[in-house]
Parts: sequence; structure tokens; C-alpha cells
Amino acid sequence: MTYVSKTSLRFANRFVPRQQSEAEKVVIHLKTPDEIAMMKQAGMIVYNTHMILRDMIRPGISTAELDRVAEEVLSDHGAVPVFKNYPKKDSPNFPASITVSINEELVHGIPSPNRILKEGDIISIDCGCTYNGYVGDSAYTWAVGTVSPAVKRLLDVTQGALMEAIKTAVLPNETKDVAAATARYVNRYGYDVAREYTGHGVGKTMHEDPQVPNWWPSNAKKKGFLSHPLQPGMTFAIEPMVIAGRPDLTELGDKWTVVTKDKSLCAHYEHTIAVTEGAPIILTLPD
Ligand code: MG
Ligand code: MG
Repeated sequence: MTYVSKTSLRFANRFVPRQQSEAEKVVIHLKTPDEIAMMKQAGMIVYNTHMILRDMIRPGISTAELDRVAEEVLSDHGAVPVFKNYPKKDSPNFPASITVSINEELVHGIPSPNRILKEGDIISIDCGCTYNGYVGDSAYTWAVGTVSPAVKRLLDVTQGALMEAIKTAVLPNETKDVAAATARYVNRYGYDVAREYTGHGVGKTMHEDPQVPNWWPSNAKKKGFLSHPLQPGMTFAIEPMVIAGRPDLTELGDKWTVVTKDKSLCAHYEHTIAVTEGAPIILTLPD
């Protein structure tokens, strides 16, 4: 098992196994109330951007058009898209301001003028920005036009898993409780979670420690999973990635887009939250 000191360079953070002996070296930046207030500002810009994109979604629109508008909205707010030019080993930097993943695409889809939404598609949009030095990160999956009840159920369960996981982000729980709650909720409906990708700490950069997986295996220690006690001031993204079929994933030739191997549908919802003495604050939703 290789210990990697830095979180890997993906938007939906790729899981990095860690030895238990390294637990104390994991640095979790606790935020002050002022910093949390600034993160809420970044989060609200992300929220506003998502709501504008939601209203644009219809058959016939290209994913490049959604990206163009997202970049404009972020810029109008004085925010910088964190995804644009994001580096990844052995591939070109990410070329757009949002990731747009359709149907069997799970995360990291690249917007394109040739990618036109069709009636019955589902589209996952992930958006992150930096504003006044702090990051907000959130994702939604939307239906294009009318989708079948089965597809609607996948979206509802994914969103439900996110809200259920957020409820568990309270003292004295640990990150493993958030992870386990996500999978428990999803499994109850017969779906599975993406195992290679995790939620992540958010702050001055998009990817900080801790990793917040969407499941917690029984042999977690052996698999390199580290659990961290929650503390007031911890800020992290919880992002269930839920798959209707088998959870095996692969990457397309563009070196970014992650798809299900069996082409089954998948959905992705994400909020950035702050842990407090009481209920968590959702930084990417209005109060
Ligand atoms: Mg994220
Ligand atoms: Mg995200």
C-alpha cells in the first residue's frame, strides 16, 4: 500500500489508501466562524450558478453552452472557477469551468458544443469556485425533460443519501459515520456507490484532508481508510456518487470522463458543509 501525502488531483477526489500510522500526519484545517462565513459566500455563488444552469436545461442545448454561462455567472460574481485548467497527471488540464456528465458518465465530463442534451437524459453538473480566497463545491443531477419513474428514483435516492449523510455530520461522530450513512441509505434502495471517489475537505483549496468516502468497508483499516473525529470548524464536501448497476468504473479516452463499465446510469449530488457544536451548516445552500 502506497502512502500518498497529497490528495490526488481530481474534482471528485480519488480515494487514496493510507496507513493507519499516518493518521496523525493528516492535517485538517479547522475554520474560524469568519472563515466559514466567507466560505458561505463562495458556496452561495456556486448555488446561484447551479440554479441558473438548472433553468437552462432542456433538450437541444449543448453542454458547452452551459459551461459558457457558468463561467459568465461566476465571473459576474467576482469568482474564479476552480475546475478550469485543473491539472491532472498524464493528461491535459481540465478545459472548462464546470464538469458535465451525462447518463452513464459519473463525473468529470468535459463540456462540448457537440454534446447536445436529449429528452430523457440525466445530467450531472459539478461546479466549484474560489471567492475571496475560499472555495465552494457542489453538484446536482438534473433530468432533461421527462424521465422514467425508475430514473427519477435514482436521482431522489442520491439526493436523499446526501441529506442523510449531512445529518450524521454532528459531534461526536467521525468521518466513517458519514461514509457509512451514505452507503447504508443507498444500499437500502438497491443501488451502489462509487468506491474510488470520495468527498473531501474544502477550504482555501478545493481538495484538503480529510477524505470522506461514500462507504465504509468492514476491513477499513486494511484497505487504507482513515476515520477522523468530527470537530467544530471542519469544512468538507459530501458527495454521494450513486450507480444503478455494477459499481465498476473506467475512464474514457479524453482522460477525464469517468463512466460506469456496464453503462448503467449514475447520479451525483454534493454540498460543502461546516461542522459546528450543533447541526452542520450547509455552505452551498441558502439558509
Ligand atoms: Mg467535491
Ligand atoms: Mg464538486
